[in-house]
Amino acid sequence: MQALFDSVSENGTTDAARIQARLIESGITVDDFRLRTTIDRLAALGGRPIDQESFAALVGPELMMVNRVLRRQLVIPDWDEFCCDIQTVYDHVALDFTGANANYIPILRDADPEKWGVAICTVDGQRMAIGDVDVYHSIQSVSKPLTYAYALDREGADFTHQFVGVEPSGRPFNALDLLPDSRPFNPCVNAGAIMTAGVVASGWPNKNAREITEDIMNLWSALCGGVGPMRFSEQTMLSERETAHNNFAIAYLLQGGKGLPRQVDLHKMLDLYLSCCSIEMTANMLSVAAATLANGGVCPITCMEILPTDVVKKTLSVMQAAGMYDNAGVFTLEVGLPAKSGVAGAVMVVVPNLMGFATFSPRLDPYGNSVRGVAFCRELVERFTFHVYDSLSGGHTGCKRDPRASQLQRKQRDLSDLRWAVSLGDRYAAKVRDLMLACMIDITLADGEIEAPELVTMADTCAEIMGERPDPEELRAAAEARQRTNAAPGAAGTSPFDELLARLREERARLDDNGRELILEAAFRVACADGMIEPEEDSKLRDLAGALGITGGVLELEIGRFKRQVAGRSARSN
Ligand code: GLN
Repeated sequence: MQALFDSVSENGTTDAARIQARLIESGITVDDFRLRTTIDRLAALGGRPIDQESFAALVGPELMMVNRVLRRQLVIPDWDEFCCDIQTVYDHVALDFTGANANYIPILRDADPEKWGVAICTVDGQRMAIGDVDVYHSIQSVSKPLTYAYALDREGADFTHQFVGVEPSGRPFNALDLLPDSRPFNPCVNAGAIMTAGVVASGWPNKNAREITEDIMNLWSALCGGVGPMRFSEQTMLSERETAHNNFAIAYLLQGGKGLPRQVDLHKMLDLYLSCCSIEMTANMLSVAAATLANGGVCPITCMEILPTDVVKKTLSVMQAAGMYDNAGVFTLEVGLPAKSGVAGAVMVVVPNLMGFATFSPRLDPYGNSVRGVAFCRELVERFTFHVYDSLSGGHTGCKRDPRASQLQRKQRDLSDLRWAVSLGDRYAAKVRDLMLACMIDITLADGEIEAPELVTMADTCAEIMGERPDPEELRAAAEARQRTNAAPGAAGTSPFDELLARLREERARLDDNGRELILEAAFRVACADGMIEPEEDSKLRDLAGALGITGGVLELEIGRFKRQVAGRSARSN
């Protein structure tokens, strides 16, 4: 309790505003039911000071959750930092104006193509939203995996799979193709989703399509933890029905092939399929639904088990194999995450055990997937270790970020190992130290001058990162010696800096991500020593990063992080 109180107090006292700010910083929203009592009590307190005793009484009923939040034990501890990175990716993707709205029905054709939103929810219920995340749109094909999950849950996998396969089709979503045994390929293409609707409809002989849709909407609502009311678009449904010639053709093909489950009425089956497409939700809502799937069927913000884990496992497998239509193979290769798109412009993506997210942008690529949605996924995975097989990388991801608590702890551990090892003469640790020093010195010399603040930063960095603080004057001597070598370039006309780059390139295969990041971090710190990064420093930093294999989006995030740190430092010193 003492440590918990200390984490939010100063000189033995705190207040409601301070605690509230810390809760919000961690990504927890003010309507989180897990902290309802605490949040209500804080609101009632106003500006009154809170001592340790009253703090203990205040948080007692929700102590476990308060502790996890305030002591940064949620799945993404550095939530602020993560939000900044996501904003960078969002802004980048916003520059893409390619693609076109679906145009087969007026409501989609006339939708505002400029809308762009990203919402994220972690398995611990940390939530973030940027842009148009509260715009209702029909979920269209995003409904498909859930109808499948509903069928599995109610009718069982054996019965469901008698009628629908689980193979990727490699064909457009509305193709009239079936497997050789006359089953549709999978529940994520129209044929499979129509059949899955048939499986569901056949189990409710006394309910009509609309009543069954209500049931499915209730399931969606539970998956979303009740965030925002569910809607149904009559206008979408009417247009869908009027233009459903292709879907009718598929339905007749299914009926004429294997036959429909329990001889269900073909119109009831199609009506159920089309009305599931006409359910309206927002990116915000879909992100929580995705997070429930990421969390094995337990909704992170209500802690209710909505679907059995086994059903979720099958649903995610099918999404991974076929969720992005005939682009699913490339999507798996590049993004490696289960996802489902819909022609209104939504993409719902699951990062298992970490988070769910949803994007909304109506312009579509030729496959019928949202251009920005797919671009966001790709850019995200370029910067973060979220691809399922990023776990294979054994410390070589090009220094992609991993915001997970477990990873950050591992990084801390590696760092303290390094500090300890360098003092005992470990060769790897010594190599990291030597490269750090060499890079720092070359950055110091970038503008031709050796400045005192740079030497101090260098010494501090050595102390912090490597556990030993060299005398700044010794560093000055080393820098001056280097300056003299600089004046006399090597025989082949290569500069000493080029030689350093070549050395980094050669060493980088033997350095792990942490080692390479530390070297770059050290160089950055020196560049920022005087409060700004000069152009010469900037270009040298980029060269060093490139030689270390830290490039593209990852480098962009690193630079953003350092700029924020520098800004934070100067804000504090003002
Ligand atoms: N309503 C659309 C259809 O059945 C859904 C397709 C989609 O989102 N890909 O054609």
